[in-house]
Amino acid sequence: ASLTPRQIDALDWDKQDGLIPAVVQDAASLRVLMLGYMDRAALRVTLDSGHVTFYSRSKQRLWTKGETSGNFLDLVSIETDCDRDTLLVRAQPHGPTCHLGRDSCFPNAPGVSGLAGASGTPGDALAFLGELDALIATRERERPQGSYTTALFDKGVRSIAQKVGEEGVETALAAVAQDDAALCGEAADLLFHLQVLLRARGLSLGDAVAVLRERHGKPHRGSQPAG
Ligand code: AMP
Ligand code: ZN
Ligand code: ZN
Repeated sequence: ASLTPRQIDALDWDKQDGLIPAVVQDAASLRVLMLGYMDRAALRVTLDSGHVTFYSRSKQRLWTKGETSGNFLDLVSIETDCDRDTLLVRAQPHGPTCHLGRDSCFPNAPGVSGLAGASGTPGDALAFLGELDALIATRERERPQGSYTTALFDKGVRSIAQKVGEEGVETALAAVAQDDAALCGEAADLLFHLQVLLRARGLSLGDAVAVLRERHGKPHRGSQPAG
């Protein structure tokens, strides 16, 4: 969703001296990231450049978030609320949004973890893995105390890799034992630890999926299945 010139004109610019509050939300995790104010020029620059830009009341000038830190907010969509006095900006953040180094200026804002949503279809399952991937990346950056994922990252790649090996073996054993509940549980553990392992190596599930996609439709050159 973007804004037409008519919609921009229809915004309630007079309510707060030409400034409109803009709530910024992570387009992937849906986490609330920050609040800023836009004047007409800031909105124009945001739409033209694709980098979310505010009017800074303290600097008293246009401020493109990330202009010095490099932590830009890439615009995904903008919409207005019911009475046209507030903007909702969805963005893809490059690095932490808060100048204190956190992903969100609201450190307790619920993100992907609160998002499980309706389940059942394969699409939901894949979307959830994507959300989980984003959450794991957040955990790696922020390392919140008391988080199991933080503990894994703190122990390092070797330890995570060993965990993936164990979960792989347990998954295989559960399958052979024809225990579906155990198989699902072990497969879940395997997927999660695999995502953490990829992230610990600076990769993501997307990088592995890209390889699958690249192979798709080509004759398979890997090893034959056993048996
Ligand atoms: P940046 O826009 O990330 O290059 O940061 C430049 C300056 O803007 C910082 O030194 C802070 O003073 C301010 N700043 C950056 N991010 C935020 C934020 N999320 N909320 C409020 N002020 C910020
Ligand atoms: Zn409103
Ligand atoms: Zn902040």
